[in-house]
Amino acid sequence: MIIDAHVHFDERIDGTAKGAANELARQIVEADITRVIALHLEYQRWSPEEVAEAISPHSNIKAFVNVHPEHPNSARVVRDAKERLGFVGLKLHPRLQDFMVNSKATVSLVRFAGEIGIPVLFDAFPDGTHLMQGFNPFNYADLARQCPETRIIWAHMGGHHVIDFMMLAKRLPNVYLDMSYSLLYYRGSSVPMNMVYAMRSMGFERIFYGSDYPDRPLLESLQGSLEVLRTHGIGEVELRKLLAINAINFFGWDDL
Ligand SMILES: [Zn+2]
Repeated sequence: MIIDAHVHFDERIDGTAKGAANELARQIVEADITRVIALHLEYQRWSPEEVAEAISPHSNIKAFVNVHPEHPNSARVVRDAKERLGFVGLKLHPRLQDFMVNSKATVSLVRFAGEIGIPVLFDAFPDGTHLMQGFNPFNYADLARQCPETRIIWAHMGGHHVIDFMMLAKRLPNVYLDMSYSLLYYRGSSVPMNMVYAMRSMGFERIFYGSDYPDRPLLESLQGSLEVLRTHGIGEVELRKLLAINAINFFGWDDL
């Protein structure tokens, strides 16, 4: 069984949310993946309603809603997305949405997500833009420390800051990591080795597989990631935790 805990919708299929969801569902079957978490993005053209409707025929696609923490109605949008539209989490993207990770507004919205029982996924990839915006692992930790009742996923394992993020996650029991994008982006550098080190150091707990599709086709990401993980000596028992069990337990998917 495989869970891909970090994918997006591809706007290039036919421009519709339905077309993107159908293509994603086709690739899920092709790659023999059991279920994915798809992340709605405000900067794409579709509303939460459109995304919810597009994924409604596909039980193998669950979604996180994306809102700006400084939006005056952000909490209401998140509650509505969960209760009326069936979203299972909140996605926040400090780089694209250009907000401070540990601002008052972010703390308030992330606490609210915890109160209504949904996790929050943060983009934590330090590309040049994000570094120039002041990317700092401390801000992520500070936010998590201020929201102890909310389960928080640091996506991409913090990129080349992976060791910092690992050391912080060890002090923050409400923090989880996903390996999407970074594992393949940094291939050929020391970063994948550090990521595997971090996985081992955390006992292969609190870490999920993700692809960041449509960065690459789902199957290509899965095969490439498995190759990197196996090359670094990760065994089948640990792979099952990283690729399925950790995410299934996290989301409480008893139906799988
Ligand atoms: Zn992503």
